[in-house]
Amino acid sequence: MQYKNPFHKKRKNTYALEVSCGNCKIPVAIYQKAGNGNLIKMLASRIIEAETDIEKLEGHLKCPGCQLELARRGTHNKELAYWIIRGKINTKRLDNYSF
Ligand SMILES: [Zn+2]
Repeated sequence: MQYKNPFHKKRKNTYALEVSCGNCKIPVAIYQKAGNGNLIKMLASRIIEAETDIEKLEGHLKCPGCQLELARRGTHNKELAYWIIRGKINTKRLDNYSF
């Protein structure tokens, strides 16, 4: 993917999750996920790589393929976060992804 997060650090008890567009199935980001359960939000600091430059993105996160809005820009504990719009994305756990 085009954007690699330079601030990203490996944390314990996390795994890589591929986030893709629910409409056209294009992978949009690789996210470092902690814990079980559905993906509710993506903290910008835990995005490992993405199709668009997350730091410079001004609006909401859109699919680079079909322009569908996938997540809304906001904050979580004063940190930049993208809140997933329910039902717009697919996720897949990447067990062989090293980061
Ligand atoms: Zn799409």
